[in-house]
Amino acid sequence: MKLYTCVFLGVLAGCKPATLPTGTPSKAPRSVDLTATLHLIDVGQGAATLIEFPCGAMLVDTGGETGHLFDSGKVLNDYLEAFFARRPELARTLDLLVLTHPHLDHTRNARAVVENFTVKNVVTDGEARGSGGKQQAWVESWARAHAKLEVVAASDIAAGGKSDAVIDPFVCQGVDPKVSVLWGGLPARPDGWQERAYANHNNHSIVVRVDHGRASFILNGDLEEAGIEGLLEKHRGTGALDADVWQVGHHGSYNATTVPMLEALTPRIALIPMGPPDRWAKWTAWQFGHPRKKAVDRLLAAVSDHRAPVEVLLGTGVQTFELTGIDRAVYATGWDGHVAVRASPAGTYEITTSHPVHATLGVPTP
Ligand SMILES: [Zn+2]
Repeated sequence: MKLYTCVFLGVLAGCKPATLPTGTPSKAPRSVDLTATLHLIDVGQGAATLIEFPCGAMLVDTGGETGHLFDSGKVLNDYLEAFFARRPELARTLDLLVLTHPHLDHTRNARAVVENFTVKNVVTDGEARGSGGKQQAWVESWARAHAKLEVVAASDIAAGGKSDAVIDPFVCQGVDPKVSVLWGGLPARPDGWQERAYANHNNHSIVVRVDHGRASFILNGDLEEAGIEGLLEKHRGTGALDADVWQVGHHGSYNATTVPMLEALTPRIALIPMGPPDRWAKWTAWQFGHPRKKAVDRLLAAVSDHRAPVEVLLGTGVQTFELTGIDRAVYATGWDGHVAVRASPAGTYEITTSHPVHATLGVPTP
């Protein structure tokens, strides 16, 4: 399999064939590798993000899309197996599992992850009533007996974010990553919120921030406009929302990428977790028209790093897409497959994808 790496040092330095993480153990001594790598795993329409540190690993969400055309459970399990084969010293251990919110495209494979690997800490929003509520409730119940569980409410998070030994269990030598949460569950309706926005589980998503030296990542779960406004208000003036790498909220939906959010982030790189546009079935990126052109246009105006120009399909509505050229560092599982962002402590980034972009031309109506 031919793989591609693009190295960004402020400007596009170029793309070259490269190798994604595989099951082959590295012969290089890990003790000198102080990088952190975010793996946006291609679980189709859904999300699962592995973050690899010099001394541990965490997983945010357990996607994704599963039907007669795609099995996110197998993809996620195979990816984690290959990862732990390459990092045998981690002993198949996820120090932290975060479930951002109880929708099935985020919690579907949570039990399998817990049963196949060792999970030490679990963080959730405590809202186990959505389409993936059964899965989240199972994990919470398991964690109360077998791990450390922390349920995070947005009201418990101070300006600048919240962190403790459950949210950030990492103590790495050399460079110690910092994990914090910026948003969480809403046990009571905030002042000024419409009932509809409050009832929407997406607005209760855990938002995760990771700092590794000067490198920084924010993962927005599926937070929509009301939640984003609350997030901005809470952290105004703190710099907590300023990050280099942004995992875009809600699969690039029209309602989760706002201009004020992008102004706070000033992102260099954006990552969209969603499925490809050519699986014409229910609960897919095709059904929802993800990612929406409106959201990606905003990303293209805000993201400062570049990628080699490619043409991709962007949703103009449900089940309708438009071929669009992009040259900013916006990556998406639906176009690129797995996306790995390797960050140095100095704040430089190296991006690897599992295949070159192949936009499907002329998506027909099935
Ligand atoms: Zn989702």
